[in-house]
Amino acid sequence: MKARLIKDIANSFVSIAKGMWVTVTHWSVLRPSVTELYPEDLPDLPENYRGLPTLPVDPDTGRSGCIACGACARICPEHIITVEMDKSDPKDKKPAKFEINISRCMWCGLCMEVCPTKCLLPGRTFELACYDRDAMVYDLEKLMELGGELPKPESVDAKNKKTEE
Ligand code: SF4
Ligand code: SF4
Repeated sequence: MKARLIKDIANSFVSIAKGMWVTVTHWSVLRPSVTELYPEDLPDLPENYRGLPTLPVDPDTGRSGCIACGACARICPEHIITVEMDKSDPKDKKPAKFEINISRCMWCGLCMEVCPTKCLLPGRTFELACYDRDAMVYDLEKLMELGGELPKPESVDAKNKKTEE
């Protein structure tokens, strides 16, 4: 009984020494820090980061390239995209309403893949937490704001290629 107690105490000291050794080997000014001070320092997202679908704005027209065809809404497995066409001018196809309920989005990317005008692109935002479910329904304005400026076609192709790799 006594021998076992002594053995347990000895093991405790060995465990502490092992733990301290790991701490000391990682505690060096020469080792680069792996801790990111989020949210003060935002992480560098990889080039092919695939965020939620957004509608970037074409700087030439000030609009997104959406023609309200509804292909994204039809393919979405979660049925969370609502598209309604603006019928005021038959020659100018644009959405009167475009909404995505991102609370159920599974980031599958199918909506972006089928978009004929390639206007639905993955956003680079990840701070989507909120306290209200209704705030997770993003309308056209919000999706355009999150999308930023429409990248040049060649950079979109390069991005898609990288995502496929
Ligand atoms: S990424 Fe997938 S789940 Fe999300 S909106 Fe697009 S199709 Fe729907
Ligand atoms: S598939 Fe593209 S063009 Fe068609 S409604 Fe969706 S975002 Fe607009």
